[in-house]
Amino acid sequence: MTTTSFWEEKGSLANAFWTNGIVPDCPVYDMHGHMGAHNAIYFKRCEPADVVAHLKRCGVKHLVFSHHHVLFGNMRNEKVVDICRAFPEHLRMYVGINPHYPDRIREDLARFEQWRPWAVGLKFLCDYYQVPVTAPELAYALDFANERGIPILNHTWGGSKYDGGPLMLEVAQKYPNVKFFMGHSIYRDTEYSRRVVTETAGNVWLELTAIPGDYGYIERLVKDVGSERILFGTDMPWFDEFQGIGGVLSAEITDDDKRNILYRNVERLLGKEW
Ligand SMILES: [Zn+2]
Repeated sequence: MTTTSFWEEKGSLANAFWTNGIVPDCPVYDMHGHMGAHNAIYFKRCEPADVVAHLKRCGVKHLVFSHHHVLFGNMRNEKVVDICRAFPEHLRMYVGINPHYPDRIREDLARFEQWRPWAVGLKFLCDYYQVPVTAPELAYALDFANERGIPILNHTWGGSKYDGGPLMLEVAQKYPNVKFFMGHSIYRDTEYSRRVVTETAGNVWLELTAIPGDYGYIERLVKDVGSERILFGTDMPWFDEFQGIGGVLSAEITDDDKRNILYRNVERLLGKEW
């Protein structure tokens, strides 16, 4: 005798994905991606055409990414705008902010409005640059985002002295108009992943990269902050979207929660056409 798990039930969202691969009334937005080769790893696909082919396979409507060569090399954000223009259906970008290059930050942000709709927000990677998110080097970019109410995808990590829980809470309270996307949901610090949402002015969302591989973790976040505060993301090409989507679908949360995470929250934030 076989038993049917809750996520295999006929009519469920998970069952629709298992059966059809793509579910047209449940688009997916991947709000945390990258592009380009990286010296630490071999990627099966990391160039724009290959990435976009994979987005289509997975049913991902938009990937919002920052380019590895902007974050870690000498590429300028302007080049990334060109990549998005070449794939207007699927690619959007975060303007990579490197606190070690203050002139570049000012030059790039002066052009931010011109780069819409390709540019959706900014990307901070404080842990890697070893510059705390509260440091003066980032104040210009934070003020800029705060004045305009634009998103910042932050790399965050539990215990980090650059973008760990207490610092992220401080900065999210100080800049209430910035839409803070907490990349990796302050991984492994569930106290602060809850507090950055509940002790701020509705300007914080948790982003799921790395979480779906941990059994029970999505359920915990939904219980702590509600699915309206969680965004889907994968770090593509570091993680595969099939894995991430499967993790969300397999979680013991409602279909409404899954839809919130996969697309509804993003559409509430940015609209349906962006
Ligand atoms: Zn990332």
